[in-house]
Amino acid sequence: MNGDVPGSALSTAIGDYLKAIWIVGQGERATTSALAEHLSVSASSVSGMLARLQAQGWVTYERYKGATLTERGAAEALRLLRRHRLIETFLIEYLSYTWDEVHEEAEALEHAISDRFTERLAERLGHPTHDPHGDPIPTRRGGLPRTPDLALDELEVGDRLRVARLRTQDASLLAHLDALRIRPGQVVTVVRRTPEAGVVHVLVDGHEAVLSQPVAGVVRGARGKGEGAA
Ligand SMILES: [Zn+2]
Repeated sequence: MNGDVPGSALSTAIGDYLKAIWIVGQGERATTSALAEHLSVSASSVSGMLARLQAQGWVTYERYKGATLTERGAAEALRLLRRHRLIETFLIEYLSYTWDEVHEEAEALEHAISDRFTERLAERLGHPTHDPHGDPIPTRRGGLPRTPDLALDELEVGDRLRVARLRTQDASLLAHLDALRIRPGQVVTVVRRTPEAGVVHVLVDGHEAVLSQPVAGVVRGARGKGEGAA
């Protein structure tokens, strides 16, 4: 197998696995069970595929433990993620798609377009560093733009968060947060925490909203200018 992989030479399944290992593993080892869940397939088919990917030099696989990407595997995962996130950005900004519609479309298109198309798309979009819900778009050379990652549920009453990213791929959750105006660029203030009820009350754009702690954990950003509790 040659080192320079043209898009069409790589099967869709291999690319989807490499991306899943990148997303699930977050730079560490992705376990077989987490991959099975992410890809909605059985653990035994994940094991079979990981062995195949290792034989082809994409991953380092340890039986029963999972896999990490090789340098080559990581480069390919980032190349696909770049395409995926640029396509989603384009569908939302130019074609009025909603969050629940873009992912499937991007999954199919990312395997169909050329690198030239990808770079023309990036140019037309103004070389975005993040997609509309704040996921970093890998650069052409495989770098990953920095993204503030402080979770809203870690803040104290009176703290403010400038939202940078909604760290979920769940379309209905993204739509819910969007309806609450919790979006990248927005500033959210914690007004009350009720850990015994598992909720955080926040002020967004003059409106109070109540978020469960897992949902608040999805909202990531950087600490806003400190303002004591009123
Ligand atoms: Zn997606």
